[in-house]
Amino acid sequence: KSRLYSGMQPSADSLQIGNYIGALLNWKELQQSHDAFFSIVDLHAITVAQDPAKLRENTRRTAAQYIAAGIDPSASTLYVQSHVAAHAQLAWILNTITGFGEASRMTQFKDKSLKQGADATTVGLFAYPTLMAADILLYQTSIVPVGEDQRQHVELTRDLAARFNSRFGDTFTVPEVAIVKETAKIYDLQNPTSKMSKSAESHAGVIWLLDEPGVTKKKIMRAVTDADGGVVFDRENKPGVANLLTIYSVLAGVSVQSLEDEYAGRGYGDLKKGLVEVVAGTFDPIRLRVQELLDDPAELDRLLAVNAEKAASVANETLAVAYDRVGLLPGR
Ligand code: ATP
Ligand code: MG
Repeated sequence: KSRLYSGMQPSADSLQIGNYIGALLNWKELQQSHDAFFSIVDLHAITVAQDPAKLRENTRRTAAQYIAAGIDPSASTLYVQSHVAAHAQLAWILNTITGFGEASRMTQFKDKSLKQGADATTVGLFAYPTLMAADILLYQTSIVPVGEDQRQHVELTRDLAARFNSRFGDTFTVPEVAIVKETAKIYDLQNPTSKMSKSAESHAGVIWLLDEPGVTKKKIMRAVTDADGGVVFDRENKPGVANLLTIYSVLAGVSVQSLEDEYAGRGYGDLKKGLVEVVAGTFDPIRLRVQELLDDPAELDRLLAVNAEKAASVANETLAVAYDRVGLLPGR
């Protein structure tokens, strides 16, 4: 089986629907045919300020959401990034072969640092992509299933792997990015030209997996559409409606075309009501399962510890080779 790696940040107390549609659904499918590693990337989350107690809690909650959404922790290696020290260690090595200009071109850094202002922007945020490269390369990963927003980071990872290999000798597998085009980017319901994010300033346009159905319903009914009135998929001119149709089609397992037919001549209100039902049908059982898992934190922690050990045994092997190739003197 070929290796697969992906992760999410525990940067909120719930995942948002873009994480589910753009990543988790894809993971669930691919875990069958791959040797999959799924990480909760807490070291990435602290590249922006986090409350320590909440971070700890959100890390467990993220793990519970992976499992509730269908990641099988006995078939896949589901673990917490900071439990495997090799991530931070390899990231340092990769920092030393990454150009300052190269890292400066990463659009996620530009977006997030712009939002926070220069004083709140950390060196950690700047080094986010090299830590992500370490995550991926430690496992000799063949494919990285992510949303469109992470494509540039995976491309940097490929460049760094190839650069290291040519400078120091073959060490890392050069990974491929795996992005499902139709669902690669889910947009904010209030701002349907920008990506839905856990760390959005306003939560008005964010659908959380763990929100109560009543809250989600309100957000969907208030989603920004347009004055045209027709239920037609037109990303450019009708981004709000296109986004609702994408979410609807994926969760209901029907084509966008059949939704256009179904809602032809009816208003956006009907489309939204239909979507409310589909979203509830998908996330009600997930929410219940998350609650069950969180009711037994000791069992969850045990699972994460077992899987971290599995991950570490693979990661440490790669790290040892990388250290040696670079010329670091072996310790005892
Ligand atoms: P943050 O705002 O803290 O960066 P996020 O919502 O962007 O949170 P991440 O933890 O950064 O979530 O990303 C986890 C995974 O979800 C990645 O594979 C990312 O590409 C994917 N993803 C995030 N947002 C979306 C979205 N709106 N549509 C599709 N995929 C997404
Ligand atoms: Mg993100």
